[in-house]
Amino acid sequence: MFKDFNSNKKAIDFLQKELRFGREAGTYLFYGADRELLKKFAKAFAKSLNCSNNIDDFCGVCENCIRIESETHGDLEVLDDITGIKIEKIRELAYRDSTNSYEGKRKIYLIRDVERLRKESANALLKLIEEPNSGSFFILMSSSLNILPTIKSRAILLNFISETHEEIGIAEEEYNFFLGKTKEIDLYKKSSLIDLKEGCSFERVGSNIKSYIDTEDFYHKVEMYKSIRDFINTKEYLTLGDKLYFVDEILLNTNDRELIKEILSYTLSLIGSRNKNLEKLLELKNMAKSSINLKNLLTIFYTNI
Ligand SMILES: [Zn+2]
Repeated sequence: MFKDFNSNKKAIDFLQKELRFGREAGTYLFYGADRELLKKFAKAFAKSLNCSNNIDDFCGVCENCIRIESETHGDLEVLDDITGIKIEKIRELAYRDSTNSYEGKRKIYLIRDVERLRKESANALLKLIEEPNSGSFFILMSSSLNILPTIKSRAILLNFISETHEEIGIAEEEYNFFLGKTKEIDLYKKSSLIDLKEGCSFERVGSNIKSYIDTEDFYHKVEMYKSIRDFINTKEYLTLGDKLYFVDEILLNTNDRELIKEILSYTLSLIGSRNKNLEKLLELKNMAKSSINLKNLLTIFYTNI
């Protein structure tokens, strides 16, 4: 139920008013820096729209709530592609929206990362929300308001503020270690194996990346973070050779630009804003997803820290 959320009370009040108001159709834009938090609230709203036991809340135990939570509900569609949702997906969705509801309740579309939509996909989405069918609800999610203005103007905007460490119920250092990312903090809270106080050498960055890719186990991702932390903590003492070794170890084990961007982002967050090369480093990080040679990029990045 909504009362179990510790944060964003104002947004929750607003959503509950919307639910009581009982719109026939609607488009909402949930925006905020924490991607996982947006989804958590979007799902809570979706459940409330279809809950069998409540009008302005979700019970979490009825058939509709359970199946929306597990994303197996016939009237729920989740579009989730961090590289930008393809136009075919939006077209499929438009087709589905033109057919009848499967379960006789409201049809709900959760669309993530709207800020990454390419122009043609954004226009296809725009068509869909311009005249929504009765009973259709679009919950768009975006890290910022930097999206097509025509989409923005047709949506009800709702800002979700990242939860503080007190709201989540962990120590500040733990919160900072995971950069406040809800999903990772949840995984951390569930794991009894992870000890953030224990270090891991920068030299192990490659083997940590490999283990993480091989097993997809969050434990190894944390070890990877720790080896980056070790690099930053010891950077004053590292030789040029050490830094080049660090870069080699990363690239010998991955060329996944998404993961490399995550590694660079994590490194940047540890450096803090006082670094004299910050602007240059930020620029480099943002280039990670273009076709630039990764070896050059990482070499410049890690030797300028
Ligand atoms: Zn329910």
